[in-house]
Amino acid sequence: MAVRVPLKMRLLVACLGVAISSALVSTCAVTAPEVLAETPDPPAPTVTVSTPGCASAATWRIGYRVYFTSGELSFSPDLFEALVHEAGEFANIVGEFSECGLRVEIDIFNMGDTQYKAGNDSGAPDEVHFVRRGGYDGAFYVFPYSGRAYTGWTSYTTGETASSSYFPHSVKQNRDQAQAWSLFLMHEFLHQVVHFYRHVSWPADDVHGAIRHGYRSSEYGEFVNPNYFRDLMSGKVEEDGKLLGIRPEQYAYYGVPSQPLRY
Ligand SMILES: [Zn+2]
Repeated sequence: MAVRVPLKMRLLVACLGVAISSALVSTCAVTAPEVLAETPDPPAPTVTVSTPGCASAATWRIGYRVYFTSGELSFSPDLFEALVHEAGEFANIVGEFSECGLRVEIDIFNMGDTQYKAGNDSGAPDEVHFVRRGGYDGAFYVFPYSGRAYTGWTSYTTGETASSSYFPHSVKQNRDQAQAWSLFLMHEFLHQVVHFYRHVSWPADDVHGAIRHGYRSSEYGEFVNPNYFRDLMSGKVEEDGKLLGIRPEQYAYYGVPSQPLRY
């Protein structure tokens, strides 16, 4: 059953340019003036990847759509394999960084010839339908775009516990590594985590707080610093004499977006 969510209900929270190495890249939402009336049913997942072990951890199920065409833009279907690999790496570090407080199961959909169409705000018009129908705790979208920058954002919709993250993949980049690499996925995923676990004492600037809390990463860049993410996900970021972030036991205590216990 289709459920319409008025677009005016959406709290637009775009942002999240991401620095890769020392090259700071910042852009915000891609906006296209289009509204889709209907939402296509997603095909069955092409592949599912999940965090190994951590059997007793709270589990977030994520629906991940990979689009290869958007208007005149497209990229090679060969990209899919690299994206699946990166999603697997992401699933690994979710368990590792959270000290098995959290695990993820990611249903990855190869959208084939289906066009990606942005809504008239920051997200895909069908994101809420997609999440609800799949019973997901969050969504990821990858699609081609014409800019050169690495970028991404996460959008939240009023009244929804789950949110969606977007990873536009530049058709002008010619890099071996998939753009939606594991730490980049983690960055946007952590915006979803911070949004849902709102009663947790997060450090200032939460996902973006690496530098102000003294974390430096010359290898990865300050917005995808694995040492900071690790401490953020295990409650070990020091601030004013306290250790902040989400502790491993708090994931299960608060539940997951599809089954919130204390939202
Ligand atoms: Zn961010």
